[in-house]
Amino acid sequence: MSEIESPAYDVSVHESPAYDVSGPATAYLSALQPVLDEVIVPAAEDVDRDHLFPRQGVQALVDAGLGGLLIPREFGGPDAGLVVYAEVLARIAAACGSTSTVYMTNLHCAHPIVLGGRVDQQRRWVPALGSGQAFGATALTESEAGSDVASMRTYARRDGDSYVINGSKMFISNGDVADVLVLFATVDPALGRDGITAFLLDTAHLSGFGVGRPMDKLGQRGASTVPLSFDHCRVPADAVLGEVGRGWALLLQAVLRSRISAAAQGVGFATGAFETVVAYCAKHGLLTARNRAAQDLQFDLAALRAEISAARALLLHACAATDAVAAAGGADPTALLAEVKLHCTRVGVQVAARCLELLGGEADRLDVGLERRLRDAKITEIYDGTNQVQSMLIARDLRFSPTAMSALDTRP
Ligand SMILES: Cc1cc2nc3c(=O)[nH]c(=O)nc-3n(C[C@H](O)[C@H](O)[C@H](O)COP(=O)(O)OP(=O)(O)OC[C@H]3O[C@@H](n4cnc5c(N)ncnc54)[C@H](O)[C@@H]3O)c2cc1C
Repeated sequence: MSEIESPAYDVSVHESPAYDVSGPATAYLSALQPVLDEVIVPAAEDVDRDHLFPRQGVQALVDAGLGGLLIPREFGGPDAGLVVYAEVLARIAAACGSTSTVYMTNLHCAHPIVLGGRVDQQRRWVPALGSGQAFGATALTESEAGSDVASMRTYARRDGDSYVINGSKMFISNGDVADVLVLFATVDPALGRDGITAFLLDTAHLSGFGVGRPMDKLGQRGASTVPLSFDHCRVPADAVLGEVGRGWALLLQAVLRSRISAAAQGVGFATGAFETVVAYCAKHGLLTARNRAAQDLQFDLAALRAEISAARALLLHACAATDAVAAAGGADPTALLAEVKLHCTRVGVQVAARCLELLGGEADRLDVGLERRLRDAKITEIYDGTNQVQSMLIARDLRFSPTAMSALDTRP
């Protein structure tokens, strides 16, 4: 059974709070800027070209107090909220896609631990993930279980006080550097999603655990993506995260939030590409020239800026709405997050592609950095639930509430 077929959530967004990127957000963005200028931007081209894991950039973010933006205060984080997180992540992505993916993957790993972990599991790993003392990864996907993730076959068989895990996972971000792994496996393949169980694994103490070769990727080439294998990998029974057989709910909660990250990256890649073209045009006097060709270019840039602004507004609206619904004890707004993921990642690819066209052959040079944004952007349409899956989730919402415009919904 796929995510599409799972029972509907309450997708109404009861409040439509205004997002606010002033106040406390300004402090985070001010802390971010020197890290971008001094560490992340100067390294971005090398990170991409030479497949360099961006450890230094991630550490600089941590040192600036930005490592665990979504980590609750009780675990040492600032609990800064999704609006701040999305703004920060978009700016990191605009500078370096690889760094943005490593950074967000750590927070994706922390999220299910916060939601479903025992206190000892939370204390052991959540502060470490936020403070840069540990890298984390989340392993769902298998070769025959991508979009249809509920058909996963990695099997955790109970054996006395342990589970013995056999199977393999594919495309796992941070998988080769992870100190901690949130693994989703089934305790009984016959049970479908009711057998899915989450495990929290300390990779330093795993036998029968293998890490394959990092993928040679189209984009985000400094962020490693690897296959993982489990061959009679014995873990203590208390490695279960949450309840046995309740991993599916945790998985859905985890992937919903990760869609905000993909969307923020989309806005970031569009912004990075756009700013690169604008800087190039400014340098060559094309923003002030009055001839018809220059005006065509200026109008193209105006339209692109409007598209990015609209995508960013939708993203921040969804972040504010998701935080408000969560604060009221409600479930994350599935359809709204699907719209945001679909739209913002599409804008990322389309704007980066158009920016590349605007500069002609010049844009294909590696040192200009435009082709990097386009390469980095493409995978955001695929991971964290493909955009076809997002379309299905929105279509399902249409069936339940044909007249609702979830993104704009201000029903009381
Ligand atoms: C760089 C990278 C990093 C990743 N990081 C992680 C990670 O950290 N952890 C993790 O668990 N996974 C990760 N993934 C996996 C990613 O989430 C999956 O690739 C994604 O969910 C799609 O699954 P799939 O590749 O098996 O494609 P498939 O599910 O096989 O889809 C192939 C195509 O068919 C379409 N399709 C599938 N089902 C339907 C349907 N019912 N109707 C219509 N169209 C359909 C899809 O939209 C897609 O276009 C990563 C992948 C990449 C490439």
